[in-house]
Amino acid sequence: MINTRMINTRTTSGLQKQKQCFFCTNGINEIDYKDTKSLQRFLSSYAKILPRKKTGTCAKHQRKLAQSVKRARHMALIPYTTR
Ligand SMILES: [Zn+2]
Repeated sequence: MINTRMINTRTTSGLQKQKQCFFCTNGINEIDYKDTKSLQRFLSSYAKILPRKKTGTCAKHQRKLAQSVKRARHMALIPYTTR
């Protein structure tokens, strides 16, 4: 069986974004949920949290990011969804 996923990743060169984790490079340990401006860049146009694959965030920071995004949503700083 041919692994279609492998072919896909090979053919679609994709967007070459920074591979480094944004928080690691900037030395941010705790992600502030009140800082919606920096949180916004990790959200899709539908206000969904973008996957690690797209943003290049490391596992540790992705977990913290998800937590703070959810926190920000609860505090109505970020929408849960846009329409
Ligand atoms: Zn990181």
